[in-house]
Amino acid sequence: MLARIRTAVTLAGRPADAVQLLAVSKTFPAADIAELYAHGQRDFGENYVQELAGKAEMLANLPELRWHFIGPLQSNKTRIVAETASWVHAIDRLKIAERLSSQRPEHLPPLQVCLQVNVSGETSKSGVTPEGLGELAQAVAALPRLKLRGLMCIPEATNDQTWLSEQFRQLRQLQQALNTQGLQLDTLSMGMSGDLESAITEGATLVRIGTALFGTRTISNQAQGTT
Ligand SMILES: *Cc1c(COP(=O)(O)O)cnc(C)c1O
Repeated sequence: MLARIRTAVTLAGRPADAVQLLAVSKTFPAADIAELYAHGQRDFGENYVQELAGKAEMLANLPELRWHFIGPLQSNKTRIVAETASWVHAIDRLKIAERLSSQRPEHLPPLQVCLQVNVSGETSKSGVTPEGLGELAQAVAALPRLKLRGLMCIPEATNDQTWLSEQFRQLRQLQQALNTQGLQLDTLSMGMSGDLESAITEGATLVRIGTALFGTRTISNQAQGTT
């Protein structure tokens, strides 16, 4: 996996350390996470709050492990995330950000956050619209216990390479526009197992990889993951 990322980074003409790997461990058991940790991986992504809480408890003995919450977050579940995660990637409403900020424990560093942007325009997709992004970004950046790091997207699944690249490029252009307006966003969370090369070409700084690392998610490991 690291070789695949390295190759894409080199082909894109970017520095060797430009892209970070987030291992998306949802539905896979804690033992799989511990194994990757033993090989040096430190950042792991989860989509479901209960699953995150369970694994965080089981793996509390791994001191350098950082949890990234990458799924949609409901307001009644923000507390566990505020107390457990280092990063949250899919914020698209101010109310969720406000709750995370007020619930972030004082003894922990600020929660690192990305705003999810709906770059495909699909009505079924979560994410703030490109038009609504500026206002949300300024409001989130002002919250005391959050640190706004960047933007995240899940593009429309497509075989059209041009359309795929355009969606990633739009996220980068939105980041640049916000930085021109005084924000300092250094993170573009984009690219998954099927499209990481395209995302890296367009400027991803963090790719979220599940299947290509852990294997296919099946019904049985999903059941395991959610208990
Ligand atoms: C599951 C998931 C991933 C990982 O997807 P793969 O195709 O398995 O690499 C990345 N990002 C989000 C938001 C996810 O839900």
